[in-house]
Amino acid sequence: MPVNNGPTVGVDLGVKTLATLSDGIVIPNHRHLKRRLKKIKRLQRAVSRRKKGSQNRKKAVRTLGKEYRKVGNQRANTVHQFTSRLAKTKSVVVIEDLNVSGMLKNHHLAQAIGDVGFGEFRRQLIYKAAWYGCRVIVASRWEPSSKTCSGCGWVDEDLTLADRVFRCENPGCGLVMDRDLNAAINLRKLAGSSSESQNACGEASAGYGREAVVKLAPVKQEPSTLCASA
Ligand SMILES: [Zn+2]
Repeated sequence: MPVNNGPTVGVDLGVKTLATLSDGIVIPNHRHLKRRLKKIKRLQRAVSRRKKGSQNRKKAVRTLGKEYRKVGNQRANTVHQFTSRLAKTKSVVVIEDLNVSGMLKNHHLAQAIGDVGFGEFRRQLIYKAAWYGCRVIVASRWEPSSKTCSGCGWVDEDLTLADRVFRCENPGCGLVMDRDLNAAINLRKLAGSSSESQNACGEASAGYGREAVVKLAPVKQEPSTLCASA
């Protein structure tokens, strides 16, 4: 197992951006699919207009297939570059276990998420992490990391996907932070709690080459106490 002395990082996978890292770095989402979607839709219509079994239809199907492959290749390149960089430079990467199938039922999100390729990101990160001595921790739920204040632990139950800024309403804290950065910091914090739980289970090696799924700590309801101890 190679030794990786890089920092621990939390990664919040996004829709508007590909990812936000807990150290403040934002990886832009190139949105290849969206840019090419118009063309793809036009080609799809061309296919459906052609008579079944005709040479023209076969030609249109080939053109459409070529366009799909272009999109796929561009997307794969972006995700490959990002997962390689993470695996090579970080000792621990904490990501969310996104309920992708559940999120895809939301049609507004479906296209953007399909474009980003969350499942592919996770698959690549896990196998590359094994090569470079990086540990991957998969947090079991995504919502609490977005809704919890990374400063004091206060939970914003009313936070929606439209809220891009997290505003802590705990008077003793008042943290105002980019929503994705707040989530990424919460994910990074899980790296500490997961090593404890793994030791307790006697599975200290979990996370190398395969994912270690950890549960977020139960949310406490005394924000003022939490803030004082922070
Ligand atoms: Zn707070």
